Amino acid sequence: MANKHYEVLVVGGGISGASLFYELAKYTDVKSIALLEKYEALATLNSKGTSNSQTIHCGDIETNYTAEKAKTVKRTAKMIEKYCLQYGYENKFMFAHQKMAIGVGDEEVAYMRNRYKDFKELFPYLEVFEKDKLKEIEPKLVFDENGNERPESIVGVGVEAEAGEWSTVDFGKMSDSLVENAQKIDDVVTDVFFNSKVTSIKQVGKIHEVVAAGVTYTADFVVVNAGAHSLYLAHRMGHGTDYGCLPMAGSFYVTSKKLLNGKVYMVQHPKLPFAALHGDPDILLNGNTRFGPTALALPKLERYHGNSTIIDFWKTLRFDKNIVKIFWDLLKDGDIRSYIMRNFMFEVPYINKRLFVKDARKIVPSLSIDDIEYAEGFGGVRPQVLDKKNQKLMLGEASVNPGTGIIFNMTPSPGATSCLGNAERDIKLVCAHIGKTFNQEEFDKDLIE
Ligand SMILES: Cc1cc2nc3c(=O)[nH]c(=O)nc-3n(C[C@H](O)[C@H](O)[C@H](O)COP(=O)(O)OP(=O)(O)OC[C@H]3O[C@@H](n4cnc5c(N)ncnc54)[C@H](O)[C@@H]3O)c2cc1C
Repeated sequence: MANKHYEVLVVGGGISGASLFYELAKYTDVKSIALLEKYEALATLNSKGTSNSQTIHCGDIETNYTAEKAKTVKRTAKMIEKYCLQYGYENKFMFAHQKMAIGVGDEEVAYMRNRYKDFKELFPYLEVFEKDKLKEIEPKLVFDENGNERPESIVGVGVEAEAGEWSTVDFGKMSDSLVENAQKIDDVVTDVFFNSKVTSIKQVGKIHEVVAAGVTYTADFVVVNAGAHSLYLAHRMGHGTDYGCLPMAGSFYVTSKKLLNGKVYMVQHPKLPFAALHGDPDILLNGNTRFGPTALALPKLERYHGNSTIIDFWKTLRFDKNIVKIFWDLLKDGDIRSYIMRNFMFEVPYINKRLFVKDARKIVPSLSIDDIEYAEGFGGVRPQVLDKKNQKLMLGEASVNPGTGIIFNMTPSPGATSCLGNAERDIKLVCAHIGKTFNQEEFDKDLIE
């Protein structure tokens, strides 16, 4: 049988792959696109609604973002809103919740007030919520289990639901919609192959040969959006060998009540590499509050698939003296050491709830261990990239682009929020390489303006 040839082949059907598939079909003159997905459906790993925090991270309440980073994510976050509004997905899988970041204690309160001054120009809708206002709009932040006010000072900076700022998305449902909408576009071949695990990619002259489930495909350009497996596949081709992957699992604890009316984030500890835990209304659990995520290094590339990816983890880590140095630098810091230990304990039955509730009480002082349950089956893996050349843990996203007609993307948080922006970036590279045209005007009209 002849190989199936496509102009562009996308590997991985999470939110990144689905976004690229959609944008290629809608905003370029590429005439044949295929998406190869390892599992039986789209978004069964990190993009699934229960795997992540469902937050459109636009930078307003994320105290771990600098103003510069907030500006970048704000642009891509707006694209999510625009896309969903264009198709009428508001209140179907995109919602506007109240959201805020809180400072607790004098130091954090001062920090939040200063942050407000620095960020209010970028996010003019932000308001400062003093304690009395919090009592009204998010009372659980203020009162303890006996109905007394918490002793520490507290301030919130955010926006009420009525302002209509879109805050929450089921990125799993959004992935489905992107592929469905792409497949409705006439005159473009948009093939999706499930149960098609890519096992080999080879460059043959100017094109690439991709083998999945015993079928060989060829393509003028290949984009690999396979989460942590992107780097695994890159390494197999000899690309990106200066990078290793450290999978950081994030777990959640759920409540059976709506303890919070909206999203509540906390001030980031400057030394800790991952976002501080937060409370969110879970749109898949009827708005009940979900706390998390935790951060635990896991020796596998996928959760909830047994031990099938442990070997892939070791191959993708590419353990050497540079990795030892990165881990050593992290572990020699007492704060980071105790953070790692604590996050490990969050996974140990019996102790986990007791320990976690202590941390979550910074948000809801009345929280008791009977209020929360470890969320079985929730939480994904952030494929954090280790930069061996500079001996550093990279916190953001990373791409490997050897310039030969293939790109490999690793997208830890806020990768779901950036999906349409990342696809825009890649489409320009794809079009330039294979001589196709990207309709920027149409794209801007739909997703930017
Ligand atoms: C705990 C947690 C909380 C998060 N919260 C947020 C949040 O609130 N907001 C936000 O914006 N981001 C958040 N993120 C990040 C976000 O979930 C990810 O950035 C995003 O889902 C990545 O999407 P992706 O499509 O790149 O990867 P994935 O969703 O992991 O998809 C990769 C796909 O590739 C497929 N695949 C893998 N290997 C192969 C192969 N060999 N052949 C074919 N297919 C393959 C997989 O089956 C999968 O479908 C969070 C992440 C975690 C872990």
